[in-house]
Amino acid sequence: MSQKKTILFMSTLALALTAMAGNPFFETYKTPHQTIPFIEIKTEHFLPAFEVAMKKHSEEVAAIINNPQVPTFENTIEALEHTGTLLTKVSSPFYNLLSSETTDELQDLAEKISPLVTEHSNSIRLNEKLFARVKAVYLQKDNLKLSPEQKMLLKDTYEGFTNNGANLSDADKAIYRELSKDLSLLSLQYGQNVLKETNNYSLLISDKTLLSGLPSDFMDVLASNAKKAGKEGWLLNLKATCYVPFMKYSENRDLRREIYMANASKCMGGGEYDNRENVRKIANTRLKIAKLLGYKSFSEYELIDRMAENKKNVYNLLDKLLLAYKPEAEKEYSEVQDFANKKGAYFKIQPWDWSYYSEKLKDEKYSVNDEMLKPYFELENVKKGVFGLATRLYGIKFRKNTKIPVYNPEVEAYDVTDENGKYLAVLYTDFHPRDGKRAGAWMNDFKAQSMIGKMDSRPQVTVVMNFTRPTETKPALLTYDELKTFLHEFGHSLHGMLTKCTYESLSGTNVYRDFVELPSQIMENWASEKEFLDGFATHYQTGEKIPVELIQKIKASENFNNAYSCLRQLSFCYLDMSWHSLETPYEGDIIDFEKEAMASTQILPMIPNTAMSTSFNHIFSGGYAAGYYSYKWAEVLDADAFSVFSSKGIFDKKTADSFRENILLKGGTEHPMVLYKRFRGQEPTIDAILKRDGIIRN
Ligand SMILES: [Zn+2]
Repeated sequence: MSQKKTILFMSTLALALTAMAGNPFFETYKTPHQTIPFIEIKTEHFLPAFEVAMKKHSEEVAAIINNPQVPTFENTIEALEHTGTLLTKVSSPFYNLLSSETTDELQDLAEKISPLVTEHSNSIRLNEKLFARVKAVYLQKDNLKLSPEQKMLLKDTYEGFTNNGANLSDADKAIYRELSKDLSLLSLQYGQNVLKETNNYSLLISDKTLLSGLPSDFMDVLASNAKKAGKEGWLLNLKATCYVPFMKYSENRDLRREIYMANASKCMGGGEYDNRENVRKIANTRLKIAKLLGYKSFSEYELIDRMAENKKNVYNLLDKLLLAYKPEAEKEYSEVQDFANKKGAYFKIQPWDWSYYSEKLKDEKYSVNDEMLKPYFELENVKKGVFGLATRLYGIKFRKNTKIPVYNPEVEAYDVTDENGKYLAVLYTDFHPRDGKRAGAWMNDFKAQSMIGKMDSRPQVTVVMNFTRPTETKPALLTYDELKTFLHEFGHSLHGMLTKCTYESLSGTNVYRDFVELPSQIMENWASEKEFLDGFATHYQTGEKIPVELIQKIKASENFNNAYSCLRQLSFCYLDMSWHSLETPYEGDIIDFEKEAMASTQILPMIPNTAMSTSFNHIFSGGYAAGYYSYKWAEVLDADAFSVFSSKGIFDKKTADSFRENILLKGGTEHPMVLYKRFRGQEPTIDAILKRDGIIRN
């Protein structure tokens, strides 16, 4: 080694050592269950930890590539699965904090770290020598004695490479890279156009009489919008928080029409942010990628690792639902039309009238609202109810453990034990909104379950919500929707906590996308069950149990205009499938394309010069291309699965055991249809969802 190199070597080492000294990521955590020592972790620990962790990961992968022995399942696939432990240890708290407890420094850091991480994972995913070893194992798959879980790991690992072009010739690889780059730029631009066009629109109202019908707290929001813009009056915009309540409550038909048209013609008016060409380009680029990889269409490529498997199965479900819901939706339409006529509206109901008259009719039919229910859903009681449900179904228990470090004093940590009192998982709960926490609700892993040798390394999961905070005079009272959200995210956490798999990448919620919402959505079914509510839903002041009539009203109002809503969702599913099932590039008009794709699902008149495709972020800039159907798919599954509980008893232990054994425990270790049939004894049907939605009555 030359002198110069020695010095260089020394200084890198010295640098690495200073970075590592006192950095908790390089030490074994001494906390209960080796949970993350949040108190010790400082923002400046992340970057050096990421750098060392990525380097270590690369070295681990290099060791697999350079192994002189012939590739085997153990020395390649399993070995690869076990790489990157340190990187996960660093990235998991980082990305969780970025969502739940972010700061400007953390955001800046994310911008720095995210390209490094992308480059790092590309260097592994596009490594030809590594792929050669993976492929060598994959080609012998039929001769290897592998368990179903090992087969799944092999398939997933191999497809992780081939779906990113690993099997292509060098020339085609270059084309693939070019197309992928184009696609990510197009999607980004598409999304930005939607955002800009949405943000650019505003309508100032100075005459209060034009705003009749709007609730006073909503008027306050509009007034503060105006104030922020330095104006007097009330400022309307196209964000969902303004658009949705405005369409529901505004008595002014002309204004409703104006707002509706502005929203429904976004990014198609020929201006700077027009997305019409982007839509064609995105769909056509996806088609090119799919063809390059050997598929007829993008949906065919996208659906290979879905429970639905292929577009025939997707269309089969959509068509069945359309047939069942359409006659009912037409009845709902007539009912709203008659109601509007009675209220003196002598015109055909248009899309900008629908929400307004539906809301009025709903009020008249079912006088149930959030304020009536909230006193029965005090957060502490709901917590007991939800945890208690898991105890009744699965025998698991929750004990608060204040010794587990948390990232904010509001967060609570629980030791979760199984029916024999054995440690199962750590559950964190984080209920209220704060600065630095993003909106919405979610479940996430801090640590996923896996077997490390013979030891079952148990998971640590978190559920995060944004429920109304308690005040000085009132405890936190949840709305009915918030109760359902809690059950939903808690359902995901059960999937994460009850799992028992060998490999981390297949455990818990690591399942196909159209299957992941089954464990969460099924939990929402308990929300309107009397037997469940009776256990905890008592009035926070009087202690009185939630009245039966109120529960019945909830159930009835949940089905209000359900068929119409279902048809609307179906129309998005059909549109998504049409764009992504193209087998030749599309160069025609966007509106013409939509008309054909969505015609069968339309109940309200189709309005000229409007389109959905130019602002459909989910499928053109989000991750839902050829995947929008999965919302409906999961609903069908959860209704079908819950029907077993309904018929055997909502706390039936045997049914719960089977759900746990066949679904919650198994993660993604086998094809979801195989798992589901083991629980249900047959493939799912739409019977249960039709019954739940009130489409068939018996
Ligand atoms: Zn979910």
